[in-house]
Amino acid sequence: MKINLLFLLVVLLYSSMSFAQSPKELAEIWEKEHISRLFPSDVRHKDLLTYLEDLRKLGLKVDEVGRSNADRSIHQVEFGRGPLKIFMWSQMHGDEPTATSALIDMLAYFQKNRRTDWIKKIEETVTIRAVPMLNPDGAEAYQRRNLQGIDINRDARDLRTPEARLLKKLRDDWSPAIGFNLHNQQALTTVGQTPKQAAISLLVVFGDEAKTLNEGQARNQRIAAAMAEALQQLIPGHIGRYDDEWTPTAFGDNFSAWGTPVILVETGALHGRDEMFLVKLNFVAFVTALQSIVTGREKTQDPAAYVSLPSNGSGGIVNYLFRRANIVNNGETTVGDIGVIAARRRASFSVSAKISAVGTLKGITGLDEYDASGFYVYQRFGKARPGELGEFYFYKLDRTVDWKSSDLAFKYPPDAIFSAGRFIKGAGLVPKK
Ligand SMILES: [Zn+2]
Repeated sequence: MKINLLFLLVVLLYSSMSFAQSPKELAEIWEKEHISRLFPSDVRHKDLLTYLEDLRKLGLKVDEVGRSNADRSIHQVEFGRGPLKIFMWSQMHGDEPTATSALIDMLAYFQKNRRTDWIKKIEETVTIRAVPMLNPDGAEAYQRRNLQGIDINRDARDLRTPEARLLKKLRDDWSPAIGFNLHNQQALTTVGQTPKQAAISLLVVFGDEAKTLNEGQARNQRIAAAMAEALQQLIPGHIGRYDDEWTPTAFGDNFSAWGTPVILVETGALHGRDEMFLVKLNFVAFVTALQSIVTGREKTQDPAAYVSLPSNGSGGIVNYLFRRANIVNNGETTVGDIGVIAARRRASFSVSAKISAVGTLKGITGLDEYDASGFYVYQRFGKARPGELGEFYFYKLDRTVDWKSSDLAFKYPPDAIFSAGRFIKGAGLVPKK
């Protein structure tokens, strides 16, 4: 009896080792094996074509399945020959690029390691079809909408865009059992009312306004729970649940209604981590989801890790917060806090930051906070108010400055200058909290 138990343990251990990589192991795999080279926000259509050529060379099936409004090619990559159909699409919003690179990395890794037991199991159990970068024109301009200025994700019913028509056709022709709708959310999205950034938020998308939990959605909740559990090991407390308001014109809601229950993955940001780290998180989340499906583990998974995720919050954090600054406006000085928010831009572009709030900012946390109490703070154009650029001159309080003088920075060189999200002069002078 004892020997049998021991044998069972060894078998269990072996099978868990060979068919379920830990989140940490998957992260290490991505570190070693990823083929995406650029920051996702810098990936243009031509770069995607290079990635797709890499996949083709590895032997993957890559097909052009449609064209964008500006006649850019849109591609579908296929892996596996199993009966369960899984459809994944990314970047239907042009400035939401993280998952595009993660899909490329995952498919390349699977194809290269088809002989490995756990990947062979994926290959035999499921067929994955992935459309990386559904909106190449939006990606080129780094904007949410397509070239017609239409939000493809509000075009699931009207089908006014070629990209939406293609997406619907790909679903209708194939009827996948599961869909993964891959997006990016605002970098300042928080987990509930905490000041923690939601680096990833998940949502199991219902197929009706009444939020009926059918079999597909219950399964997706268990899969999402497996994804959340894995991510909690890498970024504890930084996972949220996306708002599940029914949006009748959105694709996720309609896919679910049409019979392909969708899991929405929204990648945010994590302070101090770059975009490649987020690609890695996506890779771990996708592979975990697939493993939970092919091993059948999802059937016994407790959905709690998903269901109990705090909802996304907003408004609680800013990128930069200057506390107790002596703010100079029209020659008058008032003491207050200044909050500054950075816009979503390509990694290779300099940061564009705007003042979001001025005053006593209680309940707001800065990802970077400075104690500006020892300084006069002058907005570069003399307008320290919301909506203006977050560009500042800092003068020590013992300086005498004629605030009305033209060419202020020339006549009165600032002790420190904050520009494009960093101190370009006097770094370290204004104490960081
Ligand atoms: Zn989006």
